[in-house]
Amino acid sequence: MTSLFPVEQVREAARILSNARKLVILTHMSPDGDAMGSSLGLMHWLESLPTVQGEGRCTVIVPNPFPDFLSWMPGADRVVVYEKDADKAKQLLAEADTVVCTDFNEPKRIGALGEWLTEVLQTNRTPCLLIDHHLHPAAFADVVFSYPESPSSCELVFRLIKDLAGMPDYPLFGCPLNILSATCLCTGMMTDTGNFSFNSNRADMYEIVSELVRLGVDKDAVYNSVFNAYTADRMRLVGYCLYQKMVVIPEYQAALIYLKRKELYRFNFRSGDAEGIVNMPLQVKDIHYSCFMREDKVMPAEVPLAGGSKIKVKISMRSQGDRPVNEFCHQVFHGGGHKNASGGEYYGPVEQAVELFNQNYFKFFLKE
Ligand code: 5GP
Ligand code: MN
Repeated sequence: MTSLFPVEQVREAARILSNARKLVILTHMSPDGDAMGSSLGLMHWLESLPTVQGEGRCTVIVPNPFPDFLSWMPGADRVVVYEKDADKAKQLLAEADTVVCTDFNEPKRIGALGEWLTEVLQTNRTPCLLIDHHLHPAAFADVVFSYPESPSSCELVFRLIKDLAGMPDYPLFGCPLNILSATCLCTGMMTDTGNFSFNSNRADMYEIVSELVRLGVDKDAVYNSVFNAYTADRMRLVGYCLYQKMVVIPEYQAALIYLKRKELYRFNFRSGDAEGIVNMPLQVKDIHYSCFMREDKVMPAEVPLAGGSKIKVKISMRSQGDRPVNEFCHQVFHGGGHKNASGGEYYGPVEQAVELFNQNYFKFFLKE
C-alpha cells in the first residue's frame, strides 16, 4: 500500500511522539464510531510503546458521553468525559506533554473543551497532532494529517501507524498493531462507511480491513456489537419516525424527519438512539437528500444558549452521489461536514428550524 502522507510530516510526527510520555487524545462532540475508534485505536497503539507504557500515561477525553452501543469498545471504560468531570479533563490536558486530536477539524467541534485546548496549547506550547478527514482544518495543531477524501479517521490513524513503523530512525515504532487497537480502528472504518456501503469504493480500504482481520479482528462481532445493539425503545422510535414523521418532498427527492423533545421522552431517548435514522429515508427509491432534526437540549432559563434560546436543535443531513449537503448545513445551520454527511445546529424550537429548512432547501438541492 502506498503512503498518503509526506515523509517530512511523518518524520515530524515521529519526533513528537517519540518524546511523548504523557498524552491526551481528544475527539469530537457526540462521539461516533470513528471518533471513538480513531482515538482509542491510537491510544492502544501508543500504550504498547515502551516510552508510554504504564497506568494513566495516555488518556482519551471526549466532550460529552458516547452512545451505549460503543461502550463495548476496548478502553471505553477509561475514557474521560469532560461534561461529567471537567476538572479532571482540564487537569489532564494541562499536564499532557503531547496532544493528539482525531476526527475533528476545529476546536469548536469539541465544545467548551475547545477553549481550554486553545489556551493550553498557547500557554504550555504543548505539541499537537491532528489526524482528521473533515474539510478546512483550523490552524491549531503543529502537524496536520487532514485528508477529507479519506472515508474515516480510523483509516488515517492506521496509515500513520504504518508509516511510523517504517521510519528507519525510530525502531520504537516498529511494534505490530495489537488486537485492541485493530478492533477499534476496524469499528470506525465500518461505521463511517455505513458498514462499507458508501465512501467505500477504494481498494486500499479493503487491504487495510484484510490486514486488521489477519491481526485477529472479528469483523462480524464488531458489526453485531455496533449495529445489533439497540433497545426496543429505539426500534419503536424508528418506527414512529418512519410511519408518522417522515415528510417527503418528491420534486427535490428529499425527506425530512423532525422530533420535539416530548416525542423523544416518549421513547426514553438516550444518547445514540438517533444514530442512523437520518440514513433511512435514503432507502426510498429516488430519495437522495435526507434531513433529521431533533431538539437536543432544553437548558434551564438561567443558562441561555446562543440567541437566548433554551432549546438546541441538532441537525443531521445525508445525501447520495454528487449532491453536497455540507454547504447547506454551513450556510443555514452554522455547521458543515462531508459532502454526503453533514450537520449543524439551531437555537430555538424545532419548528423554526424546519421553517428555515423549508425556506432554503430549494436553493441548494438539485431538482428532479
Ligand atoms: P452526524 O449527522 O452524524 O451528527 O454528523 C455527520 C457529520 O456532519 C459529522 O461527521 C461532522 O462532520 C458534521 N457535523 C455534524 N454536526 C456538525 C456541527 O454542528 N458543526 C459542524 N461543523 N459539523 C457538523
Ligand atoms: Mn469520522
